[in-house]
Amino acid sequence: MRRKLIAGNWKMNGSLGALAELDAIEAAATGTPGVDVAVAVPATLINPAVERVSAVAIGAQDVHQGECGAHTGCISAVMVREVGARFSIVGHSERRADQAESDAHVKGKAEAARAAGLSVILCVGESLEDRDAGRAEQVVTDQLARSLPQGAAGEWLSVAYEPIWAIGTGRTPTVEDVAAMHGALRARLRELAGGEADAIRLLYGGSVNDANAAALLGAGDVDGALVGGASLTAAKFVPIIEAAA
Ligand code: PEP
Repeated sequence: MRRKLIAGNWKMNGSLGALAELDAIEAAATGTPGVDVAVAVPATLINPAVERVSAVAIGAQDVHQGECGAHTGCISAVMVREVGARFSIVGHSERRADQAESDAHVKGKAEAARAAGLSVILCVGESLEDRDAGRAEQVVTDQLARSLPQGAAGEWLSVAYEPIWAIGTGRTPTVEDVAAMHGALRARLRELAGGEADAIRLLYGGSVNDANAAALLGAGDVDGALVGGASLTAAKFVPIIEAAA
């Protein structure tokens, strides 16, 4: 009942010229009608990307928790929605680390995005130290509990499990570890979001590529992927979309 979602995250990469990659990504999205395809581009590229493609949901990588005000350099959910964004990532581990974003910030950002009419991909994930100490499931499900927005519902919210040590490193957890974590997240969601829990998509993110996508997407309770490096070119991203079909 949950459709697969393959979402790209271009991070601080891309240019107007790079938007040409979206053409083949859109063709793949059109060719796999059972899969939702999305790309979070840098804020400067949201509007040109929206004008270029329609079968790929274009989104932001972050939004501020407020609507407007004295926050130099920040961008609100209302602003990205106005230029055509359909969703925003919130709580990516790079922002949690680089901008010291707390779970409370992330919850506020998710609620602001929802209020502005955006869908949300909420990221959670453990450090290598937490994994090695055997506390990954506790850390990640607690992070979820503290960051989950009010009124969480499958219609607009996905949760991405992204182990920090797997992002951009070429390392991934085993399929069994991914399935176990997603099972733990689903169980915690049932406590937190009641009847909506089974409608909320759980994505895996961290070094997904064309070689490992089918196995990771086949793990229990994995409803899609959040893809960084391999989303930058259609040649690498399209096989991941096709693996989800
Ligand atoms: C990410 O940044 O969300 C991510 C999963 O990156 P990568 O696929 O490059 O590991």
